[in-house]
Amino acid sequence: MAGAAGPAVEGSMSGTSPAPSDRPSAGDRPAPGDRPAPAGLVWRPGPPEMVGPDPAWPPVLVAEDLLGAGVVAAFTSRPGGSSAPPFASLNLGLAVGDDLRRVLANRRRVATVLGLAGHPWALARQVHGATILRVGSAGQGAGRPAADGAWVEARVPGPGPPEGKAPLGEADGLVTTEAGVVLAVLTADCAPVLLADPAARVVGAVHAGWRGLAAGVVEAGVAALAALGAAPAATVGLVGPAVGGCCYEVGPDVREAVGARYPAALATTRDGRPALDPAAGAAQALERAGIGQLRVAGECTADLADRHFSHRRDHGRTGRQAGVIALVPGAGR
Ligand SMILES: [Zn+2]
Repeated sequence: MAGAAGPAVEGSMSGTSPAPSDRPSAGDRPAPGDRPAPAGLVWRPGPPEMVGPDPAWPPVLVAEDLLGAGVVAAFTSRPGGSSAPPFASLNLGLAVGDDLRRVLANRRRVATVLGLAGHPWALARQVHGATILRVGSAGQGAGRPAADGAWVEARVPGPGPPEGKAPLGEADGLVTTEAGVVLAVLTADCAPVLLADPAARVVGAVHAGWRGLAAGVVEAGVAALAALGAAPAATVGLVGPAVGGCCYEVGPDVREAVGARYPAALATTRDGRPALDPAAGAAQALERAGIGQLRVAGECTADLADRHFSHRRDHGRTGRQAGVIALVPGAGR
């Protein structure tokens, strides 16, 4: 599994973080439990096992200290939604065969818990490549594409429910400088990666499976963020739950495609078979890109059935969790 390797892993939650007292949560106590909270990420209102299979609100793994800097960055989990098996219950993916109304209701619940209700969601049709979309809101003036083509422009369409926007295009990363636009990447074993330079007011989200890693999608995301004014050294990179090397057996071609670029991703399963650790690969990519602060959830989606959807464990019939990031309107400069 991915350890908390990194140049400057933040190990403590700031005591000055604002309490989420305006949220419909069961409480704001630190999460107890037998698993330590990952560095710089905390389950609210508590770990999925603690809140039970049918909690009032879905638990999220959130970078709570970033809220004070005007950035919402969180990873969702399974409980607290309305979807039926095999999508039970907080499936956020519209393209997996689940009921549309339930998925949109689930997205609204996540938006509410994160204080982002009513803001448009920006998603891409994920194709395991390295294209990054720069996202603007409807009606905003066109930006200037990066000279090296690191990203392409996309606009969130105006009409329709905020959480039901059509995919903006084929891409595996999204970046924005606009407050109130909710960037989301959907995963069920691939690594969700969130990026934020709170001072520069730029955020991004990247979907990194083995193909995307081999294509350099994580570095492309960091480059797209930098093209919008972020400084990598001032950027926080968060790697969410992904299938671990403990479970992700792969063939030699896949192992070579990723391992040649990110040796840290090479792993061995519990029963001794050649494997990959996508989160470790993403973390190594972030280190190479010069990210100033790295936080790794360190949770294996295949191992934790109560917490996460897993394509591998569930043989393809499963839902999607999300990495979600947004700039808080009115916060920051
Ligand atoms: Zn595992």
